[in-house]
Amino acid sequence: MTSLWLDRTQPSHPLPENGREFDVLVIGAGLTGLTTALLLSRAGHSVGVVEASRVGAGTTGHTTAKVSLLQGTRLSTIRSRHSAEIARQYVEANTEGQMWLRHYCEENDVPYQLRSAYTYAAGEDGIPAVQAELRATHEAGLPTTWVTDTELPYPIAGAVQLAEQAQIDPLDVLTAMVTDLQRRGATIYEGARVRSVDPGTPVTVRTDDATLRAGRVVLATGTPIMDRGGFWARLQPLRSYAVAFHHPGPMPQGMYLSADSPSRSVRSVPRPDGDRLLIGGNGHVVGRERHPARQVQDLTDWTRRWFPGAEPTHSWSAQDYHADHELPFVGPLTPTDDQILVATGFDKWGMTLAVASALALSSRILGGRTDWAQALQSWTRREFAGAPTAVKSNLQVGAHLVGGWASSILTQQNRRPPAENTGRVERQGLTPTAVSTVDGATRRRSAVCTHLGGVLTWNDAECSWDCPLHGSRFAPDGAVLEGPATRDLPEQ
Ligand SMILES: Cc1cc2nc3c(=O)[nH]c(=O)nc-3n(C[C@H](O)[C@H](O)[C@H](O)COP(=O)(O)OP(=O)(O)OC[C@H]3O[C@@H](n4cnc5c(N)ncnc54)[C@H](O)[C@@H]3O)c2cc1C
Repeated sequence: MTSLWLDRTQPSHPLPENGREFDVLVIGAGLTGLTTALLLSRAGHSVGVVEASRVGAGTTGHTTAKVSLLQGTRLSTIRSRHSAEIARQYVEANTEGQMWLRHYCEENDVPYQLRSAYTYAAGEDGIPAVQAELRATHEAGLPTTWVTDTELPYPIAGAVQLAEQAQIDPLDVLTAMVTDLQRRGATIYEGARVRSVDPGTPVTVRTDDATLRAGRVVLATGTPIMDRGGFWARLQPLRSYAVAFHHPGPMPQGMYLSADSPSRSVRSVPRPDGDRLLIGGNGHVVGRERHPARQVQDLTDWTRRWFPGAEPTHSWSAQDYHADHELPFVGPLTPTDDQILVATGFDKWGMTLAVASALALSSRILGGRTDWAQALQSWTRREFAGAPTAVKSNLQVGAHLVGGWASSILTQQNRRPPAENTGRVERQGLTPTAVSTVDGATRRRSAVCTHLGGVLTWNDAECSWDCPLHGSRFAPDGAVLEGPATRDLPEQ
């Protein structure tokens, strides 16, 4: 599944050179990593970026790329757990992220479009949530309005609207940043998964073939790849789907997100090879959906119903991380270690939050401060506000841990290979084994996640092995694709 944004030829970057040292090493070349690298390069630091795959290969290359301060029902959810002041700071952080990104696009001739954003209730049941969002946005000073009529081809019960928001092609932005970084002397490495980060002075970062050192390391890896700090226990990995269509009829000009289930995200994408309609939704916790491929089909069926003549050109899925206390974690990996920094928990609103995090992390490294820092912190007393939710989601994690092992132990080994593009977990002795057939090759790997021992499930949309505990994902050959895991699945 290739995303609309990544369906292009990108310049490639070399593997890391063993022994190189940097002032700051950024791990991950998504929007968080490249923006942080750019801000620090501008300030005169020597900066390296290490990317496991390609620039933008993570969630940034698979987003729907609305750069919006109206974020579904995010603000009312935050407000239900935090003070009005924290909600105001959250909006301020996002505003700064949005303004920085728009300015960057203008300075670097990267196109973006100004559009109204909407959070709508598809039915009467969704109205209270949307009205709560209207109140929360007003309280935080956003000029939202209530509307009942939209250009959408299906009826809605009511919506909050915020004018003058933006939408981008995220790869256009990352491509401009890569050029900018190279001009400033920063080094970008691709195809090198970081396997370990050892604290110290300097911090030591190891890939399969190189050891790099840096005074500071920024983990811009979606979810932190180091277990110290225990962020995996405070984050829930959420996967969702997107489909781009050619559509013969009128394209919606606004950016829409439903407040009720099943979630629907709607926007259009201006493209030289024909504008596209972009529909997203059907999210779930990673590894806990039996038939992910059906989610893509469901989005396609829904779109064809309401946008007759729509023909899919690209479909994809991706994941982002929801923080138990509803606010992103941005700052030191542990309360006592300022050398390794993290940014995570954007809950599908990273187009503004990745940039805000980069501004916060770079000013922390450069000795400055941000006025909205309290809303984006990795360690404060307020994170204990997340404790009940963390306990609840970790109970679910525990249930999946036990359930995965129990069902794999009950499944006998099967001599027949799985059909093409399918996989199953079976028992080999007492060890759960992941058996799959993709491109005619049947492979047997350990079905036990190398992060914290969850039993993997087959993802029939991506042909991958996904962990229902903390969202690590693996290719059929066992290679890590994403998530907190850093070690591949051993052959079985
Ligand atoms: C379906 C979907 C739609 C979304 N739509 C929107 C939207 O409309 N608006 C919005 O604001 N937000 C949206 N988001 C959220 C937003 O896309 C993300 O929050 C944002 O892209 C995260 O950027 P990032 O740089 O932090 O992470 P990523 O883009 O995931 O970058 C992390 C990078 O780190 C690399 N990496 C990971 N581990 C290692 C390792 N061990 N060694 C080296 N490299 C490593 C990965 O390969 C990856 O390239 C959406 C998310 C999803 C899932």
